[in-house]
Amino acid sequence: MTPSTLGTGSQPEPHRRHEILQRLQHERNTRLAQLRAMDADKPNAHGDLLTAQTTAIRVVLKEIDAAEERVDDGTYGVCRGCDVRIPIGRLEILPYVRYCVRCQQREL
Ligand SMILES: [Zn+2]
Repeated sequence: MTPSTLGTGSQPEPHRRHEILQRLQHERNTRLAQLRAMDADKPNAHGDLLTAQTTAIRVVLKEIDAAEERVDDGTYGVCRGCDVRIPIGRLEILPYVRYCVRCQQREL
């Protein structure tokens, strides 16, 4: 038995993995910039609206963290609901999603 017989399992190919992590990092930077922009000009009159927006952004940031963990444990891009691979087109738009379209609709 030689090391070359060891498979890579369900891990994405290294270049793919790098691309995914870069995309997630980009999403995170975008959200963090939005949060900073909102902090910078906080209009007191829109306090509630602002809180709702920052809450939504923080939820996405958590999703991004979770997606990075899934890249590490090899479950990235697999639907949590039905174990089917999430189409790459969907992952390009929403790199942190954990459900396929069908399961997402069921969740809502
Ligand atoms: Zn699904």
